[in-house]
Amino acid sequence: MARYESVLDAIGATPLIRLTRAAEGLRPRVYVKAEWQNPGGSVKDRAALSMIRRAEADGSLRPGGTVVEVTSGNTGIGLALAAAHLGYRMVVFTGSQTSREKRDQLAAYGAEVRLVDAFVPRDHPDSMRSQGLRFAAETPGAWFVDQYDNPANPATHYATTGPEIWADTAGAVTHFVATVGTGGTISGTGRYLREVSGGRVRVIGADPVTSVYSGGDGSQKYIEGAGHFLHPEAAADVWPLALDSGVIDRYVAVEDQDAIDAVRRLARTEGILAGGSSGVALAAAFRVAEHLTEDDTVVALLPDSGRAYLSTYFNDGWLAANGFRGPAPAQGPTAADH
Ligand code: PMP
Repeated sequence: MARYESVLDAIGATPLIRLTRAAEGLRPRVYVKAEWQNPGGSVKDRAALSMIRRAEADGSLRPGGTVVEVTSGNTGIGLALAAAHLGYRMVVFTGSQTSREKRDQLAAYGAEVRLVDAFVPRDHPDSMRSQGLRFAAETPGAWFVDQYDNPANPATHYATTGPEIWADTAGAVTHFVATVGTGGTISGTGRYLREVSGGRVRVIGADPVTSVYSGGDGSQKYIEGAGHFLHPEAAADVWPLALDSGVIDRYVAVEDQDAIDAVRRLARTEGILAGGSSGVALAAAFRVAEHLTEDDTVVALLPDSGRAYLSTYFNDGWLAANGFRGPAPAQGPTAADH
């Protein structure tokens, strides 16, 4: 389908793109699922629309209502574009670490952006979540989206992302690799692929090395969107209900530096500009692929574009200031080869 009657109909049905140069030397076929091609620029457009449609259907969101969410950016962008299209007021609580580009994009859709300290424990009255919940409770007609605990988040990936990957690989996919934020993407897509393949497809969670999902210490992170981190003073960890750990066969933990190297190399060797969490997924996918054969097909889901990170992961000054190495050496023939 290349013609849509509304921008909301253009969400999903993203391309699956084979990696050639970046996957050189690997035996399996490696494809990436191009989620940056969604209208808001990320995989979260799918969950955003699905959660809004569910809230409209069950009466939590009525005409003229207010959509309230706590997000590091992409979910807010998906919600903001849908809210703009459908005529809802949108209020986003986000941390100051959320990239400038994402905050500006939210504002461009007419969303109200409230900057809050993201590193307050979730159960503290000043946490992003507490503030969002309080605002929603005090605002008539407001609905708190709650992507972490909202069943419409994984459900949309079971209904769309999974079937798209199965159809576009003609059932050949053997390994699905995705990062885990709320867990919506991997839980819904992973469950579908496991079911449709009779349990053959392996589902791999790609995780920043300090994230608690893969056994890390939960300490501060750089990669936006992927992983689960803890505040040192948090009373207890709260795992999202959107995450169904039972569908994940195993986690691969990825160093931030390796994720950054992977997306920078992807841009230079494939011409694909992807974000930091895409780097986590790619680095994990390549590690998995090293142990596979020509009969395998690996699909790595790339959640968003590198456009929102030109001032961070793709910026040499930012890398140096944050203790990362600069660009990986250029691929392909070097001067010495001539
Ligand atoms: N990467 C990015 C850039 C994201 O914004 C998100 C959403 N938090 C994810 C990965 C993880 O997706 P999910 O919430 O479906 O696990």
